[in-house]
Amino acid sequence: MRFYQATAFLFPRRYEWRLLLVCFAAVHVPLLACIAYQGVTGQWEPVTLLVLLAATLLGTLLGLAAIRALLSPIAAATQMLRAVQAGERVGMVPIGNEDLVGRLLHGVAVAANESAARIERLIEVSERDELTGLRNRRGFLDSARRQLGDGRNAVFAMVDIDRFKAINDRFGHATGDALLREVALRLEHGVRRSDVVARWGGEEFAILFPDTLLEEARVVMERLRASIALDPTLRGDEWPVTFSCGLAPVRNYTHLENATRNADSALYAAKNGGRNRVQISRDE
Ligand code: GH3
Ligand code: MG
Ligand code: MG
Repeated sequence: MRFYQATAFLFPRRYEWRLLLVCFAAVHVPLLACIAYQGVTGQWEPVTLLVLLAATLLGTLLGLAAIRALLSPIAAATQMLRAVQAGERVGMVPIGNEDLVGRLLHGVAVAANESAARIERLIEVSERDELTGLRNRRGFLDSARRQLGDGRNAVFAMVDIDRFKAINDRFGHATGDALLREVALRLEHGVRRSDVVARWGGEEFAILFPDTLLEEARVVMERLRASIALDPTLRGDEWPVTFSCGLAPVRNYTHLENATRNADSALYAAKNGGRNRVQISRDE
């Protein structure tokens, strides 16, 4: 560390140039020694000096090229560490030998993997609803962005449990929570793996059906509505659990916001129509 600090004045921002300079100086030692010897003895041998000079220059060039090449993994590792620090993904970290560079590359690989895993965990936590385990609204939008391709039919469904406040009031908040979890489970198991189910907020759920026609989505939601409404295990004290649903077509991701408003209006109509029903939006 002391020599490193002491030589810092040579090229304060270019470590590799400092190494090259040391190499350059070291390669010239035999030539300088030969000149000094011949100077002291007074026996000049120009041919010997010329050969030594040529060999020194060749040695310098080869030495500089080799050091530059040997330093390249360190430069690459430094770049990768900078990317890790910035929270960016690092591609494959090359595997080195069991030497200083190898240990440095191994350290970069460990840091990169741990950082990627930590980022993934954070995204997972920030996109999940704690109560139901479904995606939350942010997670829904993130998945929808990936699922919605241009020019393909998709459907957005807004689901709202009917008279949920009364269930809470009558049976308690814990029963309400358990019911939310149960409904979430049924919605998730009642659709395809490629469909995106999320807790939109409170007692509202959102479902995105990619590559689906409105009529197909309506059939699925009707089946789910009936299976929940008719399920005796969900009825506490003859209290039927039902939901209302609004459906709207989605053209692409930028149209999704519009579609959520349309589905919301259809849901409002379903509530006004007596609840426990699936309503298709008339707006595009
Ligand atoms: P509607 O049929 O018109 O939808 O009536 P509603 O009672 O379901 O609707 P409202 O919006 O009046 O009430 C929603 C209730 O959902 C109120 C709120 O306390 C309850 N709620 C929201 N989030 C939670 C939750 O995480 N757990 C429980 N247990 N209740 C919740
Ligand atoms: Mg609601
Ligand atoms: Mg409700």
